[in-house]
Amino acid sequence: MTARTSTSADIRVGVYDLGSLTADQRDQLHARTCAAGCGSRDPARDGGHAYVRSGAEGARLGYVVKICDTCPSLGGRS
Ligand SMILES: [Zn+2]
Repeated sequence: MTARTSTSADIRVGVYDLGSLTADQRDQLHARTCAAGCGSRDPARDGGHAYVRSGAEGARLGYVVKICDTCPSLGGRS
């Protein structure tokens, strides 16, 4: 599996490095755009959590993310 640095990547899949997030990925993390990566600027549903790795110690940070109406939830929770 290869992580793609575009809005088409689901931010909830994999653990990204906090220092190398793109602006698009930060928007997804902060629930400004759909976490599933469709580019929707109006995500209304609970999308669960996304995780990023912070600093050299590798601590994981969890973010509450949102998804739009048309993207599927992960894990069946909504
Ligand atoms: Zn979406």
